[in-house]
Amino acid sequence: MKNIEAIPSSFSAKKNCLKEKIILVTGAGDGIGRCAAMTFASYGATVLLLGKTESKLNAVYDEIVQKQWPQPALLPFDLKSTDPEQYKIIAKVITENFGQLDGLLHNAGILGDRTSIESYKPNRWMETLQINLNAPLLLTQALLPLLKNGRHASIIFTSSGVGRTGRAYWGAYGVSKFATEGLMETLAEELVETTKIRVNCINPGPTRTTMRAQAYPGENPESLKTPEQLMQTYLYLMSDESIQVTGQSFDAQK
Ligand code: NDP
Repeated sequence: MKNIEAIPSSFSAKKNCLKEKIILVTGAGDGIGRCAAMTFASYGATVLLLGKTESKLNAVYDEIVQKQWPQPALLPFDLKSTDPEQYKIIAKVITENFGQLDGLLHNAGILGDRTSIESYKPNRWMETLQINLNAPLLLTQALLPLLKNGRHASIIFTSSGVGRTGRAYWGAYGVSKFATEGLMETLAEELVETTKIRVNCINPGPTRTTMRAQAYPGENPESLKTPEQLMQTYLYLMSDESIQVTGQSFDAQK
């Protein structure tokens, strides 16, 4: 089994460590993605907020502006889209407005159904794989030219414990996370020699969000870490402190 990393115990993000960085966060309207977008902005980044529900993105936008952090940008988009051209439009908008991208956090995801492989509905399987795996691939392909223009760009994929050891009844979700780890490793190796782009995975671990409550409805949310408590791992991998780190899987709660 591969090695799972934790950030250096001495790491503590420096004020403004993301200054002048342009960072796109998917699923920025809720849960861990919302918290990551707010945190990156508070450390000086201009965040591009991609998500499905526009009202949630607007609320994050307003909060960032109200706190007088760098003005964010809104990218309402449904990752159900399988059309590569739609992803190229996102890249075009970013190219015209920013010219580069320094960070990409693939965070958006859905749980899919919690059922056996035998009875998994094919449509739900395809949908879960689309949002959790294929959409990050299409977005990465479209954004790679911009990331190559970035200063030491960082791509972070979001994994899960069930993407490292198979677990019954986690179906398409678990499989999508295994594949995400594979995509991360493959891309990291392809980019390491020829670009300054690094590619890593974070497994947030059990975290107090809507998705976790959906997966474990009987659990006391107070027993879980909040997204805010995970943010040092996200800041480490987005900041220049991790320039030499690529192809690794991190546990945010290790
Ligand atoms: P939430 O359900 O709280 O948030 C998921 C986010 O993804 C929302 O912003 C949602 O937007 C967005 N999203 C879902 N579907 C789409 C879509 N079709 N198009 C665009 N955006 C979409 O989840 P978490 O914050 O808990 O999870 C974040 C990541 O962390 C996921 O990848 C998850 O698998 C992973 N993870 C979470 C753990 C946990 O315990 N919470 C544990 C391990 C991994 P909207 O609200 O608009 O639908």
